[in-house]
Amino acid sequence: MTSLSDIFLATPRGFCSGVRRAVNLVEKTLQNYGAPVYVRHEIVHNKHVVENLRKKGVVFIEELSEITDTSRPVVISAHGAPKHVYTEAQQLGIKLIDATCPLVEKVHKKIIRLEQEKKNIVVIGKNGHPEILGTVGQLNNTSEYKIIFSVQDAEKLQFSSDAPIGLVTQTTLCVSDVANIMTVLQRRFGNIDALSKSDTCYATTHRQTAILELVKHSSLIVVIGSKNSSNSQQLKKIAMEAGAKKAFLIDDVSEMPWNEISDEPSIGISAGASAPEELVDNMLKELKKRYTNLKIHDIIVAKEGV
Ligand code: SF4
Repeated sequence: MTSLSDIFLATPRGFCSGVRRAVNLVEKTLQNYGAPVYVRHEIVHNKHVVENLRKKGVVFIEELSEITDTSRPVVISAHGAPKHVYTEAQQLGIKLIDATCPLVEKVHKKIIRLEQEKKNIVVIGKNGHPEILGTVGQLNNTSEYKIIFSVQDAEKLQFSSDAPIGLVTQTTLCVSDVANIMTVLQRRFGNIDALSKSDTCYATTHRQTAILELVKHSSLIVVIGSKNSSNSQQLKKIAMEAGAKKAFLIDDVSEMPWNEISDEPSIGISAGASAPEELVDNMLKELKKRYTNLKIHDIIVAKEGV
């Protein structure tokens, strides 16, 4: 039986700048206004971040109608929100602090433009995901839009008019899945906006590229992130598609499947864009405790300074 000797660490991993900004905004709001502070939806999809903020006095809500004290500030999560939320807040006299990631806002601006151009709109993303609800929630519903998530959906897609088609995508999808869907759309709809390109963000792209590199070094991949985090789910899926023997998505070291790694020579570790670095640190501490002479290798695919 071999014993674990090498750890390959993906860089970049963990918090992206949009998540860092959103969490900082909630912390600042707590400092400036005191508790309680409302946050519409989980500020980012990470159990630890959410629990930590809850302890400091954050109350997470899904809709403004749940607010009992409208004198308290409300932070909009990094995923963004439909425009009716901003109108409602104004009507109720609620102070909104907007932590929508600027890269999500960019997608909002794009879908608004597509509607002004009277295009049929294809939204590539997970129906019901808060980012998608926020994106389609920018529309006045004067354009027809369809949400699709797979190549099969793209094959079946129909619009009632032959208006030109414009595209927007969720920022955290698998880059190659989006490319495959777009290939089908280009084949089926000759009138697709030639300028349309994926809105997958830089942080998603970097973390996915790093996972592909990790799989070249280790066939067992551990992604630290919460199960409801879209970008973390994609990292696990990409690892398996790239040939990993096993890939796990775990919230923290307490969920580490130790029996699965006992006879592995190496592990590749990454963390989704909403997972704080301390979770990776805790994982490394525990690994070093259990396995002596571990070698840690950084697999760097990009430097992020945004
Ligand atoms: S994953 Fe991308 S879009 Fe989402 S918060 Fe991070 S930088 Fe922004």
